[in-house]
Amino acid sequence: MWLGLDYDGTLAPISLESGQAKADPSLCSLLTGLVENPLLRIAIVSGRPLSFLRAVLPVSGLTLAGVYGLEVQMPGGERLLRVESNLLRPQLRMIKSDWSLLFRGHPGYWVEDKELALALHADSADPAETALLLSTAISMATDRPSPVPLRVYEGDRYLEVAPAAAHKGQTVQWLLDQDWSHEALPVYVGDDARDEEAFEVIRRRGGIPILVGKGSGSTRALARLGSCEAVRTWLEILCEAASRRRKSPTS
Ligand SMILES: [Mg+2]
Repeated sequence: MWLGLDYDGTLAPISLESGQAKADPSLCSLLTGLVENPLLRIAIVSGRPLSFLRAVLPVSGLTLAGVYGLEVQMPGGERLLRVESNLLRPQLRMIKSDWSLLFRGHPGYWVEDKELALALHADSADPAETALLLSTAISMATDRPSPVPLRVYEGDRYLEVAPAAAHKGQTVQWLLDQDWSHEALPVYVGDDARDEEAFEVIRRRGGIPILVGKGSGSTRALARLGSCEAVRTWLEILCEAASRRRKSPTS
């Protein structure tokens, strides 16, 4: 089985803290049990930077795909950058500078610089002005000539500007092609709109996309797990079953 897992809202409750990168020993132990089984290949596919994923999931043998797969650490430890960062960084720096002028005098906004993407958080901003300011921020980002094509993710009092290649579907496709046998069953677990892009690919490849939580609209998932806790319980069952199967493959 090839198993792709989102991080926030799937393996761990969603946290707005971008700087608090602490490993969770029980999650690391669970993932270690999974990656040590040769019947399984485990990839984490997240919008978080690779540096964050390396800090919270220090588990050797995992594939870690950060910023929606723009920066990938393969199971052997080699790191790949899947975007031209020398073209992208100046572009993002200009957008960041425009945004800092736009939000001067407007408290409650903060920009998270992921190096390969910019996220704009407005959770504690004045709701009366948020829609207008965020739409101005999008125009500032997309009206510029851009050597690296960009896409905008919009959420609830949140937006993110990233290269078009920051796409979980493309990343899962790429990982499946690179990473694992075509006979393996692909399964992917995630909780939001970005994961739906991966679900589409998993369905095309004959696998099982699993949505965590209720979702907020239509979904391409074929199954659901109710919460992060349910995901962990399911992973424990998978780990035990794969371990038994490894020990006695023909019984
Ligand atoms: Mg998530």
